[in-house]
Amino acid sequence: GLLPGWDAVEEHVAAAHSRNRSAGSGEVADYIPILAEADPELFGVCVAEVDGAVHSAGDADVEFSIQSISKAFVYALVCEEFGHEVVRDRVGVNNTGLAFNSVVALELNEGHPMNPMVNAGAIATTALMPGRTADDRWAAVITGLSRFAGRPLELDDVVYRSETATNHRNRAIAGLLESYGRIDVDPLEIVDVYTRQCALLVTARDLAVMGATLADGGVNPVTGEQVVSAEVCRDTLAVMASTGLYERSGEWLFEIGLPGKSGVAGGIVTIAPGKAGIGVFSPRLDSAGNSVRGQRATAYLSRALGLNVFASG
Ligand code: GLU
Repeated sequence: GLLPGWDAVEEHVAAAHSRNRSAGSGEVADYIPILAEADPELFGVCVAEVDGAVHSAGDADVEFSIQSISKAFVYALVCEEFGHEVVRDRVGVNNTGLAFNSVVALELNEGHPMNPMVNAGAIATTALMPGRTADDRWAAVITGLSRFAGRPLELDDVVYRSETATNHRNRAIAGLLESYGRIDVDPLEIVDVYTRQCALLVTARDLAVMGATLADGGVNPVTGEQVVSAEVCRDTLAVMASTGLYERSGEWLFEIGLPGKSGVAGGIVTIAPGKAGIGVFSPRLDSAGNSVRGQRATAYLSRALGLNVFASG
């Protein structure tokens, strides 16, 4: 296999969990009110290999809202639809160096969204999903992300309502995108689709399989379905590497050396191209919004399994 043998991977996944279980720093997100109620002790780790082998430890089957991690997969679906040049020019691929929900980043760049992993670019990306109506676009999002996961994903209605009641900033971002002529759809309707997209329920195991699909040239290694093309995976991973961990993306690449994407509910997906996907979940976050134990577990696995893409020996 491409990773060490089955038993070795099982041991490393168990160690990634047990060694970091007592890392107690970080705070559960509270800017979406319902997220503040998450159990801060939950901690799941999962590795899915491109040959379909899945290894997990801890709370790898506990559901949580995907949040920003959805951005990477919706981006892949939009790349599949429009191709490299269009998506580069309409959404952008450069890091903002600013918070994920920054309005300043959009204003400084004359309304160009910068990249698909921050809210402005993510909302512009969701606006490119195929469909005539908002409902069509939502159906395309839920169907597409379910194909990555290899099972039908469902909406967490409570998270969706909680965020809808408080997402004034995202509505402002969508309004700005419209005023700059960057989206062709109703801004409030597209924020609603985006908010649902963020409230899809996944587990660490789902994230590992979704990541493994991007690691495997777009083929879901569990279902065998071709979800997107290999070119789309390559483009998506490049953007994740430079922008996936908010304004800590540089630190993440330096420590872990792999493309990843985090979300404020505490999930992180990481991809070892050609080898595996890693899914982690733990709700306590650092000040940028990245899971503390999730980052540590992923760093451990990158080292233990020799996954850093910059390492030459
Ligand atoms: N739904 C959240 C928002 O748009 C996602 C944030 C995140 O995970 O970074 O604010």
